[in-house]
Amino acid sequence: MDEIRIENLEIFAHHGVFPEEREKGQRFYVNAVLYTDLRPAGVRDELELSTDYGDVSLFLKEQLSGRTYHLIEAAAEAAAEAVLLRYPLVRALDLELRKPEAPIPMRFDFVSVKLHRAWHQAYIAFGSNLGDRQTYIDNGIKALKADFHNRVEKVSGILETKPYGGVEQGNFLNGVLKMDTLYTPHELLARLQELEREAGRERKVHWGPRTLDLDILLYDRLVCEDKDLILPHPDMQNRDFVLKPMAELAPWLRHPVLQKNMEQLLKEYLQRISC
Ligand code: ADP
Ligand code: MG
Repeated sequence: MDEIRIENLEIFAHHGVFPEEREKGQRFYVNAVLYTDLRPAGVRDELELSTDYGDVSLFLKEQLSGRTYHLIEAAAEAAAEAVLLRYPLVRALDLELRKPEAPIPMRFDFVSVKLHRAWHQAYIAFGSNLGDRQTYIDNGIKALKADFHNRVEKVSGILETKPYGGVEQGNFLNGVLKMDTLYTPHELLARLQELEREAGRERKVHWGPRTLDLDILLYDRLVCEDKDLILPHPDMQNRDFVLKPMAELAPWLRHPVLQKNMEQLLKEYLQRISC
């Protein structure tokens, strides 16, 4: 992706663990790389099609000098997030915060932290088969939309499906949504589980009845497997209530492990169950 770079932007701020650092303040330097598509602005020669580096520089100054943090880690984290939230064309950024007057009793040039932060594309499956199913789903989607860390882009139609996994229970309403998110995969899982709890979900039986189930299907093209989180969702290719809405939202999207797109996975699933 194309880049806009700001190098060695000087800022006076009050970050530090020692009280005298927070009182007196000192110089900091910022290096920022904004990842964005410069083609439209390059072709049309119009500032509105790009991100104004002057505006970003002033905004970084405001962010970094307007508040005091103990750690440059925290100052950089907050500034990186603020830039991603404010400038819609910036998909990702590197942010380095240098502290040349850090309290180190030796000769040195600077200490710094450097972060890479980005918007990530996630597909979330939602389902409910207990109580007022539509309201649980609507409230879950509303909560995801209200959280500034997410930008919900598309929501599929809702399907009514028979329960999965052999437990006797009511029919499900299911669907999928696509969103951009600033959360890491584990933060996103924790947030979804919080919303499940808010919907009064109790985890009694695996595959049992639930007021709200929120699963991460895909997170960029990430493949990961640990105790709490498997990506892509390990069962997505075996669930028509996931594949049908996925084929509606992104028929061409290729599963990063199975290497087939959503339409192909749905077709294969339907062939399998008809045999
Ligand atoms: P399911 O969604 O398969 O019906 P649960 O909602 O009860 O089952 O989830 C069981 C566990 O699955 C959760 O505790 C969670 O840690 C784990 N899990 C692993 N991968 C994922 C994922 N991609 N999305 C959501 N939960 C996941
Ligand atoms: Mg789940």
